[in-house]
Amino acid sequence: MTDPRRQIPRTDAVLDDPRFTPLVGRMGRDRVKTAVNAAQQRARDGEIGPSDVYDEALRTLPDDGPRPVINATGVLLHTNLGRAPLSEAALDAVRIAGGTTDVEFDLATGHRGRRGRAALAALGRAVPAAEAVHVVNNNAAALVLVATALAREREIVISRGELVEIGDGFRLPELLASTGARLREVGTTNRTSVADYATAIGPQTGFVLKIHPSNYRIEGFAGTPSVSDLAGLEVPLVADIGSGLLAPEPLLPDEPDAATWLRAGADLVTASGDKLLGGPQCGLLLGRAGLVELVRRHPLARALRVDKLTLAALEATLVHAANPTRDALRADPAELRRRAGALAVRLAAAGVKAEAVDTGAAVGGGGAPCVELPSAAVAVDAALAGPLRRGTPAVVGRVEGGRCLLDLRAVPPGQDGDLLGAVVATCS
Ligand SMILES: *Cc1c(COP(=O)(O)O)cnc(C)c1O
Repeated sequence: MTDPRRQIPRTDAVLDDPRFTPLVGRMGRDRVKTAVNAAQQRARDGEIGPSDVYDEALRTLPDDGPRPVINATGVLLHTNLGRAPLSEAALDAVRIAGGTTDVEFDLATGHRGRRGRAALAALGRAVPAAEAVHVVNNNAAALVLVATALAREREIVISRGELVEIGDGFRLPELLASTGARLREVGTTNRTSVADYATAIGPQTGFVLKIHPSNYRIEGFAGTPSVSDLAGLEVPLVADIGSGLLAPEPLLPDEPDAATWLRAGADLVTASGDKLLGGPQCGLLLGRAGLVELVRRHPLARALRVDKLTLAALEATLVHAANPTRDALRADPAELRRRAGALAVRLAAAGVKAEAVDTGAAVGGGGAPCVELPSAAVAVDAALAGPLRRGTPAVVGRVEGGRCLLDLRAVPPGQDGDLLGAVVATCS
């Protein structure tokens, strides 16, 4: 009888396994090797079988550090999966900015330069309707900064139909009130008129806030004034567009964009950087020079400032139009169907029961809640959902009608091979 210890896989064999090569790339060979060696030792001690070495090493490894996930949920901007994936250009910029860089230094003169001026200039160029721009950590931070700088111990006039919970229990009214601003609610849940705003405005008013209901719709007997309707009121009009579209997106006609709302009369627009803009997490502030300067100069601004990596990624996102979010939004349904068909054929050839099906994908991430984007998925056994999630790379699909749908709209075409490999590995 052969000694079972002789069947323990050799370190090199494990490290060359397709499940391990990406980990070696990401964590470095030494880290992965240490985990493999520990698993081999457990096998030598008889605690696990020789063939368990692979799984044991994987189990101990990936827990530290973010793990790559293939987003097969059919939700383009999945907040739990980090919202917008960065473009290659943005990732390259982050790599450079990660070292010492000229984030706040003018190499031409040798003097201090305005922090992130290249990113700010790119944002200004992208939205010429904005006299000035500023960037903070996220849209919530933008709102906190504006509320603090313009309405602390004063009032923010807001419609009862726009008191939004953005997710995970965070509510914008509570966020705004935490700054010391008072909310002056006007109108009703379903209807608010310009007169409701006008009556509430007085010496105590800091600004009127219009929030785009990005994750819900009030339908039926409903209506709120447009930005242009509110532009005539004699106080600043701050508008939170949510999604971060800088210009109109023909595929999402109901999503507001910064340029349109500024032209319609908003004095200040706030938005997220990691939603439909397809960039890093950040909060954009665009609008009148005087107001932007006021918030930029507020002491709290220093606590909400973005780091150099974010600035680098934002600039690259603005300069290079293509990014994974935009590609996913504009993907041709016929091409998605073709990819799903090709994957199903290759899975069947590998002995995995799979079928290409038509599906509906969503924008997600607090954007366009009523829009369904035609998409296609590979349907596999629902029992695979868990193992796929725990695999390497992790694959997150959605279980629907007793099957696990791997929706391709949010999967960049370049990841089809990885997706195929992950499913086959899960089944073998
Ligand atoms: C998503 C969203 C927010 C929060 O943005 P973060 O960048 O996640 O802080 C605020 N307002 C609206 C309307 C949103 O859609």
